[in-house]
Amino acid sequence: MKITYLGTAAAEGFPAVFCNCEYCNRARELGGKNIRTRSQAIINDDRLIDLPADTYNHFLLNGILGDRIKYLFITHSHSDHFYPLELGMRQGAFAHQMQAPVLNVYCGQGAYDKLCAEFKESKGIEITLLKAYKEIVLNGYEIIPLPARHFNGDNALFFIIKGDKTILYAHDTGFFYDEVFDYVEKEHLYFDLISLDCTNIDLSISDEGGHMGLENIARLTQKLTGISAIDDKTVRYINHFSHNANPIHHLLEKRVESMNLNVAYNGLQIDL
Ligand SMILES: [Zn+2]
Ligand SMILES: [Zn+2]
Ligand SMILES: [Zn+2]
Repeated sequence: MKITYLGTAAAEGFPAVFCNCEYCNRARELGGKNIRTRSQAIINDDRLIDLPADTYNHFLLNGILGDRIKYLFITHSHSDHFYPLELGMRQGAFAHQMQAPVLNVYCGQGAYDKLCAEFKESKGIEITLLKAYKEIVLNGYEIIPLPARHFNGDNALFFIIKGDKTILYAHDTGFFYDEVFDYVEKEHLYFDLISLDCTNIDLSISDEGGHMGLENIARLTQKLTGISAIDDKTVRYINHFSHNANPIHHLLEKRVESMNLNVAYNGLQIDL
């Protein structure tokens, strides 16, 4: 299984769109891994996670052919993960001879309601409402949605992707609900790779705050270790960084070295 990180910033991007703070200016000077767009990833070459407004640019930069994408999983309806109007470019005179003429979109209630308002009658877009813990099986892969502690009323989700390996992709969530740990333990799940929300890095945030920082992550990974969901072999990444927390790549790498964490960046590809 292969995961490619396409966008690795929080909602405002890094450097942030309209910001003139010292961290953003430093990122502009340094460039490279310090340029982070809005959150998106792709599993293998046809399972896309989230649809920010940066999607088109991500496709261009990573050589992704949009017409081949068959599946789109949306975590929640915040604009940095969900720009549904882009799907209009699959229609009519805007897209011809697509290799995957139907895009199957899977999402929680908030994104589902917005998508249905625009695209319910559209040919070529199949929309499925996800329920937490109700897995979706797609030719050899299982995607298990879990409830995110993020945005009340939206039914925000994060995902376990199970194939030949198992990935936990958990962004835009605070510290996991107890029921999530119970589920992982009951199902004897083991993760080869975990990708965790680290929006706040060293800025403090409560477990209910909708995102996490390193302090929350330290406790989270301890808890996952305690239920044998991860071990020394599990590859661990942090992702979805806010400019307020100074996510300059080389500084952050150094900061988390002793925590056995790796720092995601735009374009990073991991073959498991
Ligand atoms: Zn976000
Ligand atoms: Zn800034
Ligand atoms: Zn969000």
